[in-house]
Amino acid sequence: MTSTNRLVGLQGKQPLFSFGIISDVQYANIPDGRSFLGVPRYYQHSILVLQRAVKKWNGHQKLKFAINLGDIVDGFCPKEKSLETVQRIIKEFEMFNGPVYHIIGNHCLYNLSRDSLLPLLKMPAPNGRAYYDFSPTPEYRFVVLDGYDISAIAWPQDHPNTLEALKVLQEKNPNSDKNSPMGMVGLERRFLMFNGAVGKEQLEWLNGVLQEATRHGQNVVVCCHLPLDPGAATQEALLWNYDEVMDVIHRYKCVKVCLAGHDHKGGYSVDSYGVHHRVLEAALECPPGSNAYGYVDVYHDKISLSGTDRMASTEMIFTS
Ligand SMILES: [Zn+2]
Repeated sequence: MTSTNRLVGLQGKQPLFSFGIISDVQYANIPDGRSFLGVPRYYQHSILVLQRAVKKWNGHQKLKFAINLGDIVDGFCPKEKSLETVQRIIKEFEMFNGPVYHIIGNHCLYNLSRDSLLPLLKMPAPNGRAYYDFSPTPEYRFVVLDGYDISAIAWPQDHPNTLEALKVLQEKNPNSDKNSPMGMVGLERRFLMFNGAVGKEQLEWLNGVLQEATRHGQNVVVCCHLPLDPGAATQEALLWNYDEVMDVIHRYKCVKVCLAGHDHKGGYSVDSYGVHHRVLEAALECPPGSNAYGYVDVYHDKISLSGTDRMASTEMIFTS
């Protein structure tokens, strides 16, 4: 190999750009506890995981931005402490030397109303929306979805989106506690109150963004707090209308990777259209001293997640 070839070879391995990633910090200044299924939750330690993530991201020096996949605060956080807790976590994110793109999760909405939450998260979205897109380089576009668009926990009680969500739950979930999947079978178990759906308007917006990305020859990464593929997550964690969202995504070839949180154990799948689905391991479930965060190197033909400790590393090579 001549020195010029070697140089080209090395340049070919350089990512187009890189970004930091973390999910489900779910911090609260309360004693450790357990999930409904008995999985330990380290509510106070999770802020240390976030602090270590930001320190590592800053040390990397070449991260263009960071993405928070949602649920920065836990539902057990005492309500009178919600605002200061959310502000405290956001402050930790702001220690990162670059923009942080946030996504709302159910636990954020248990603590603060959509109206108080969105300005704090400073999303680059118009009209108080919680879905948006951004293009860090000409080759790529990121789409952030709001999985709590149609939801029984995300809007005032008399809001049309709340009423629509309650109707879905009434039809699909026979339990009086709509957070319980008792007696529900297979994929139907996703119709729980802590999940939600992408509304019609947002679906049309998504279609338009993917159309435009295709026109510009861009690769797309879709981010949503709720997972979009049954192969990568438990049935109880899926977006209610993951199938409708994936139908839109599969109309185009531009979406290469879908990232999600919410299903704390993490997961990975490649669907029948070759789209990679990576559900991230939760910062909340890291025993003291351990971590779950990472950074992602983005190339023309693949996306490579380098995870720390409990966050698995994943190489996602595009099929087309
Ligand atoms: Zn969640």
